[in-house]
Amino acid sequence: MERQSSWVKKTTGAMTITCLMLLPLLLLVTQSAFNTSLDRLLPHGIRARIGWKDGSLTPRDDDDDDKLLGGLLSGDFDEASCLSRYDAVSYWKNPSRPPSPHLVAKLRRYEALHKRCGPGTELFEKAIHHLNSSASSNHTAGEPTTDCNYVVWVPSDGLGNRIIALVSTFLYALLNDKVLLLHLTDDFLDLLCEPFPGTSWSLPQDFPVGDLLNIYENPPWTLSNPQNAPYLYLHLTHDQRFSAHGFFCEDSQLLLRSFQWLLLRSNQYFVPALFRSSVYEKELKLMFSEADVFYHLGRYLLHPTNSVWGYITRYYHAYLADAEQIVGLQIRVFRSAPISSDQMLAQILNCSWQEGLLPQVIIEGAMNSSRWRRNKPKAVLLTTLYSGYYERLRSMYNEHPTVDGEVIAVHQPSHEEKQHTEERNHNKKALMEMYLLSFCDVLVTSGYSTFGYVPQGLSGLRPWILMRPDGGGESVNCRRAVSTEPCFHAPMGYWCIGERKRKEGEEEEVMRLVGKCEDVAGGLKLVS
Ligand code: GDP
Repeated sequence: MERQSSWVKKTTGAMTITCLMLLPLLLLVTQSAFNTSLDRLLPHGIRARIGWKDGSLTPRDDDDDDKLLGGLLSGDFDEASCLSRYDAVSYWKNPSRPPSPHLVAKLRRYEALHKRCGPGTELFEKAIHHLNSSASSNHTAGEPTTDCNYVVWVPSDGLGNRIIALVSTFLYALLNDKVLLLHLTDDFLDLLCEPFPGTSWSLPQDFPVGDLLNIYENPPWTLSNPQNAPYLYLHLTHDQRFSAHGFFCEDSQLLLRSFQWLLLRSNQYFVPALFRSSVYEKELKLMFSEADVFYHLGRYLLHPTNSVWGYITRYYHAYLADAEQIVGLQIRVFRSAPISSDQMLAQILNCSWQEGLLPQVIIEGAMNSSRWRRNKPKAVLLTTLYSGYYERLRSMYNEHPTVDGEVIAVHQPSHEEKQHTEERNHNKKALMEMYLLSFCDVLVTSGYSTFGYVPQGLSGLRPWILMRPDGGGESVNCRRAVSTEPCFHAPMGYWCIGERKRKEGEEEEVMRLVGKCEDVAGGLKLVS
C-alpha cells in the first residue's frame, strides 16, 4: 500500500510537470481551449450571444437571460458561492420555458420582503419579541397586524417529501406575503444554497418555540384552537390524525393571514389545493399560465451547494456527458406495495420496450456484427436503493446485442440499500441523483414516489410512470404523465378541498388546471 502510494505520488508529480510544460500546446488544440481562446478574440456583443453548451458553440439569444432563467433568478449573488445556481441550466436538456413577468416581479418583491424581515434584522427581532409576548393577540380574518409575517417550514420524511412540501410552502408564503423560514435539521444542512439574496432562510437556533419536530404530538395552538394564539401549528401531512383540516377552507385562509407566526409541517405537494381556492385564483392565473409551478419554483429555490454540485458534475462528466441519449430510470419499491425484483424488472423492460425508450435484446443466435452501430452509447442512469437491478440490466445489455445495434451503458451512482434520512451524506447522494435524473433526455419514474417527482419537476420532462402493483401495475406497465407536476397524494381527508364560491356554470381557468394523478387514486395534480 505504502509503496503504491509513493509511486502514485511520484508519477503524479512527473505528470503534473509534463502537463504544465505541454499546457500552452494543449490550450491551442483542445476543444475547450479553442472555446476559451475564441472567447477572448470575440467582440463583446458577439460573445454575449454565444454559449458554450456541451463544449460546442450554441447560438443563444441572450446568455445572461439564459443564466438567470428568463429573469426567474436574481443576478445579485456571488456565482462562486453557489455554482449550481447559474450552471445547472446548461445541463438541462429541453429548452427553458420563461416565467411570466408577474411571477418574476412577485419574486423580486418577495426577495425585498425577506431581506427586510429576515433573521438578523430589527424587524425580525421585533417579531420574535412579539411571539414571546403575544399570548393575548386577537386575530381578525384578512388583516395582518404587521409587515413581517412568517411561515416556518418543518421537515417531514424523506428528501422528496421534504422538497415537494418546501416548494408548496414557498408558494403559500408568496401568495400571502409571508417570509419563509426553514427549520434546518442536521441531516438537511449543506444540501441547498440560500435562495434569497442578502439574507437567510434558516430559522435561528434560538427560536423560542422548541422541539419543532415533535410539536405535532400536542400542539398548543391549531386552527381548531386559534384563540389568543401567538402562533399556529399546521399539520398537513398525509397522516390526518392531527390535521389542521380546516387549512384549505377559504375562511381559514383569510384568518391565517392575520397570524404573524405559522409553523407548517407537511410531506405533501399541496399546491393543487391552493389552485382550488378562490382566494388565490386571480393571483395564480397571473403567476402561472401552465401547469409548471414546480418547474419554476423548484428551479428558483433548489440549488445544490458546491459540495453536492461537485458530486453531480463529476459524475455527469465521467459517465453521462458523452452519451447519445440519457434515459433516467428511477426505481422505488414501497413496503406497502411489495413487488419482486423479477416482476419489477419485467415491468421496466416491458414499459421501455413498448414505448421505444430502450432497445430489445436478441437472446438467441450469434450477433450480426453489421447490426452494431458505431455511434455513441445510449446511457441508462439508474437510481435505486438496491444494487441487483443494475447488475441484471448491465449484464443483459453486455451479454446480448440489441435489435437495432445500439449499445447501452448502464450506470448507477449509489446503492444505499436502506433509507437513512437522518444522515446528511445519504441525503446529499439522494439530491445528487435527483439532479442527475433531471439532466436526462427521457425519464421513467416509479409511481407514488416523491423522489421521482423532483427530477420530473426540475427538468420539465413528462415521465413514463411505472404503475405500482396496487395502482393498476398488473394491467398497465407504465403511463405517460400528463404534466411535469408532482401529485398531491392525500387531499381526501382535508376539508374544503375544492370548496369554491362560484356561480353555477362558471368554470374558472385555474380550476381546469387541476386534474387527477396517474399514479395515486384520489390524488390531485396540476395538468397542462
Ligand atoms: P419517496 O419515499 O419515494 O416518496 O421519496 P423520499 O425521497 O421522500 O424518501 C425516500 C428516501 O429514500 C430518499 O430521500 C432517499 O433517502 C432514499 N432513496 C430512495 N430511493 C433512492 C435512490 O434511488 N437513490 C438514493 N440515493 N436514495 C434513495
